[in-house]
Amino acid sequence: MDQVYTSFVKQSLDGKTLDRELCENILVSSDIELLPLLTAAFQVRNKYWGRKVTVHVINNVQNGGCLENCTYCAQSCESKTEINTYPMKEEKKILEGARVASESGAFRYCMVFSGTGSSKKRIDNLVEIIKKIKKLYNLEVCVSPGFIDRQDAEKLKKAGLNRLNHNLNTSENYYPHICTSHNFQDRVDTIMAARSSGLEVCSGLIAGMGEGPSDIVDAAFKLHELKISSIPVNFFMPIEGLRLNGKFELTPDYCLRVLCLFRFLNPEAEIRVAAGREMHLRTMQTLSLYPANSLFMDGYLNTTGNNSVQTLQMIKDAGFIIESDKIIDEILDNSNKIPGAVEE
Ligand code: SF4
Repeated sequence: MDQVYTSFVKQSLDGKTLDRELCENILVSSDIELLPLLTAAFQVRNKYWGRKVTVHVINNVQNGGCLENCTYCAQSCESKTEINTYPMKEEKKILEGARVASESGAFRYCMVFSGTGSSKKRIDNLVEIIKKIKKLYNLEVCVSPGFIDRQDAEKLKKAGLNRLNHNLNTSENYYPHICTSHNFQDRVDTIMAARSSGLEVCSGLIAGMGEGPSDIVDAAFKLHELKISSIPVNFFMPIEGLRLNGKFELTPDYCLRVLCLFRFLNPEAEIRVAAGREMHLRTMQTLSLYPANSLFMDGYLNTTGNNSVQTLQMIKDAGFIIESDKIIDEILDNSNKIPGAVEE
């Protein structure tokens, strides 16, 4: 490998942050070629995660009706996107989702709420649900509850919650372009509340909302500074009716560079290729597993992902190892698909 790529690996593994200008070059410079970049990112990934891939399933346990005005979100008060709006699902349905996730070979079950924050009543409901999931299934549990204070974070932690998700989404500078009903610091405050209660924190970004490469670099540095252990990297999906519209072109090449950058700056983190994988990476999806060690399988919020069998087959075909492999083998066997011939 050329010296320049070797230096990315060395700096990352030595815990040094790469120079900002270099980070921007990783995203946009044609002097930095994609394949050696992916090889370099894989060396860092391999050190901490080997060839393992963790598969996550999302359950949107409440949808729509949010009072915030995030321009990229179909649940925002200003969105015209037609979505299936519903209040918090009944406990029975949420537990059923956990059962299906467990039987689908998911490692983690993520329950996502729309809205600014959770009422005390909702937190109490969640406490009971988390306790039941942890008792019934061998699943890690993550909740995305919106803004939260330390007291509620502690209640969830005590119930058995493993991880709390609250995305930064973009840089502090660009934040006013994607939302004006709350600010970047509000998001950082929730992350700090979760952290101080002892919860693991998951926080990531959405690339492709009109921001510049420097905003992506800023967000990656901020997540590094906050020592975030789980980073979902989403790629914006311009669905009809969103307030955020315009021509924000993401190419597979750029998306892969974003993932590599996040790996170099956050070498030990679980980097997840999240929403937009199918739309923006298209035939190059498999390559995302070289920098990323985790992905979402189905259950995207208000959009549709690949089906589970295709996703699992893709991981196995590329020679990666899925967490809870035994059940995955059963799923692939039962699907009556010949490896290498997965159909729609
Ligand atoms: S706070 Fe969350 S659910 Fe509400 S509009 Fe923003 S991203 Fe969407």
